Amino acid sequence: MRTVLSRLAAVLVLLSPLAAIAQDASLDQVAKAMGAVGMKSIQYSGSGVNFQVGQNFSPDTPWPRFVVKSYTRAVNYENSSIRDELVRTQGENPPRGGGGQPVVGEQRQIFVASGDFAWNAAGDVVTPTPIALVDRQLQLWTTPHGVVKAAMTNNGTVQGRTIAFTAPGRFKVQATVDAQNLVEKVEALAPNAVLGDIPIEIRYSEYKDFAGVKFPTRIRQMIGTYPGLDLTVTDVQPNLAVDLAVPDPIKQTPAPYGKVATQMAADGGTHHSVLIEMKDHVILVESPLNDERAAAVLAEVKNLAPNKPIRYVIATHHHFDHAGGLRAIAAEGIPIIAHDVNKSFLEKAFAAPATIRPDRLAKSGKKGTIEGMRDKRVLTDGARTVELHNVAGNNHHGGIVMVYLPKEKLLVEADVYNPPAPNAPPPATVNSNWVNLSDNIKRLSLTVDQILPLHGRIMPLAELHKSIGHSH
Ligand SMILES: [Zn+2]
Repeated sequence: MRTVLSRLAAVLVLLSPLAAIAQDASLDQVAKAMGAVGMKSIQYSGSGVNFQVGQNFSPDTPWPRFVVKSYTRAVNYENSSIRDELVRTQGENPPRGGGGQPVVGEQRQIFVASGDFAWNAAGDVVTPTPIALVDRQLQLWTTPHGVVKAAMTNNGTVQGRTIAFTAPGRFKVQATVDAQNLVEKVEALAPNAVLGDIPIEIRYSEYKDFAGVKFPTRIRQMIGTYPGLDLTVTDVQPNLAVDLAVPDPIKQTPAPYGKVATQMAADGGTHHSVLIEMKDHVILVESPLNDERAAAVLAEVKNLAPNKPIRYVIATHHHFDHAGGLRAIAAEGIPIIAHDVNKSFLEKAFAAPATIRPDRLAKSGKKGTIEGMRDKRVLTDGARTVELHNVAGNNHHGGIVMVYLPKEKLLVEADVYNPPAPNAPPPATVNSNWVNLSDNIKRLSLTVDQILPLHGRIMPLAELHKSIGHSH
């Protein structure tokens, strides 16, 4: 015992001069250096490029890029609210992948979160987007000053030059400060409906002084394994009043994904699933959004077809809004059919841990089963036939499956044609994805009466032809 103690004492003596030199940065020192003390809100703006996470052309290509002509972020640290307003234009030609491409001209986007609510705004119209809440709260608390404030109120720890804090169930954050005690790097882990945990890395550099507040004029983000943002900041206004009240319609719809409206091939909700009834089983097309949505859809399937198990779930493509409920399907042990382009990505995603917010798959310990396909696969029970076809050559995705029911002359498709409002005039610029869908229908000699898009309303094929300027 004595030997151990004296050895420890010797080690302590040896280490103490070193410890004095490499002193830990304290949160107070960092807050002071950054100008975060007493700061209640901030607004900063600039321009650059951003990328649409989860909307890449195929799983092994980067997120699609957009030009951000103007970007303004307003943050209120006191009531945990954030508002991003962007004006973006198309970044890539050809417009490969999703995320609302092609952007025609300039598009204004407004993304807001306040407390436990998240919504998008367009003019006077607000749309609840609870699926984006964690991302936006993470963006709020990983702003250069947000990190320091969050660490101070969440029992953050400081070790050397690294600050760490956790928002349980939401994210884990680690920030590194430079020799001037300015935040230069933030690494975070957040829950993601497809990937389990998603890593985010933010670099803050080229700090300047704005009325006593230090702020980086270059902000770069990596989200997952691909770039998410590269912003040059030109204007910073500390303590500008930021008042982001939650609109009433947003307060009244806190959990829209849990509500499933069922109709016989009719519309409802932002992302549809289609249930196909076979003799002794059912086939589900798409399990979108997240765990919560998947649980609600599965419950509704049981309600509609209590004695028929789901034999397959067809996943049209890997885009995160469409694939977010697949982990729950994997947890149920239901085989998933997807185009080969998505197969290894989904397998890896299902095997990845979800530690921040353990989901059904993480709790099940299962890995999921994915059956790949290429151009065509046919499922039949002898009476009803379901044909799965690749939408070949479509810029939206490199391996996207549409579902054709020959007897019913019905075509189910995701994202390659999101129909405009009924009776809207044909768009000035024809969307090449729509033309491609029409070409695929011809190429495969499909007799289609109606299209059932997974966004929007069921409609006659003639409407697609009208949208692309064909009269036949
Ligand atoms: Zn898509």
